[in-house]
Amino acid sequence: MIASVGLIGDPVKHSVSPAFQTAAFRHHGLTDTYMLWPTSTQELTTRVAGLRADGMRGANVTLPYKTAVVPLLDELDGIATAVSAVNTIVRRADGSLYGLNTDVLGFIQALRAAGGEPREADCVLLGAGGSARAVAYGLVMAGARSITVVNRTPERAEAMLADVLAATEFDPQLQVLASDAPEVAQAVAGAQLLINATSVGLDGRSSPLEAERIAPHLLVVDLIYRNTPFLQAARQRGARTQNGLEMLVQQGALAFEAWTGLTAPIAVMRAAAQQALEEQT
Ligand code: NAP
Repeated sequence: MIASVGLIGDPVKHSVSPAFQTAAFRHHGLTDTYMLWPTSTQELTTRVAGLRADGMRGANVTLPYKTAVVPLLDELDGIATAVSAVNTIVRRADGSLYGLNTDVLGFIQALRAAGGEPREADCVLLGAGGSARAVAYGLVMAGARSITVVNRTPERAEAMLADVLAATEFDPQLQVLASDAPEVAQAVAGAQLLINATSVGLDGRSSPLEAERIAPHLLVVDLIYRNTPFLQAARQRGARTQNGLEMLVQQGALAFEAWTGLTAPIAVMRAAAQQALEEQT
């Protein structure tokens, strides 16, 4: 077997990417192996340089290196340039390294798979970290009418939106609210899409928003891969929901296509990701 692709990050041990990417390779009769490459800050330059070797296809990149890898690459696609973050590296035939960001389109494709349409939508986005940045850029590029970013640290949300706007020609209505601001209730009531891109809920207990704010007309998305208290509350209140597994699979499918030039077997990848996640619990 050839270890031609892997995940660069720290930590990486709970990732389900090896399971669903290997399933995609096997579906196409390829013997490639997707490895986990835990990488310290000191090792990052050498790790990325190793991707230039013959036989390598590239890598995925996760926390905390999505921005740190940018100067180590030869070229970036437009989306990776706009969000200053790379989650997929493709080794080209001449050994040069091309950086992409498939989180942005992966999020939009997952949203549409759940019946959500970002065009002309009023959106409330909880969070202003790295994944919220990809979501905000995706929503702006897809033609959202308004985006209200709610974050514990509103200054971070202001900076994020300034960067996103500078990278696009679109001009949606934008608003930043602190998590405890009374205006949050009104923004959620007037929205069609409610997205959690904070890490609140990873513990299986906490929720980024009071349940009584959630109305049945909303599509509620949580980027966390599992079913969180936030999604449980949303379902109890009659809203449609989606967890982060679909975005993970969609961004992975786009990465697979960039590495191989083949059509990603989405259903195969989704089933393998689901099974790997269930085996972890
Ligand atoms: P990040 O850059 O560290 O950002 C974390 C966000 O959560 C910030 O907005 C932060 O607010 C907020 N936060 C953290 N702890 C909080 C608390 N106790 N109370 C209130 N707010 C809090 O993380 P990230 O990379 O964006 O990831 C966020 C989540 O998305 C993670 O759960 C990750 O698993 C998930 N994710 C999913 C996918 C996918 O494909 N589905 C992809 C990427 C990430 P402050 O700004 O105030 O600190």
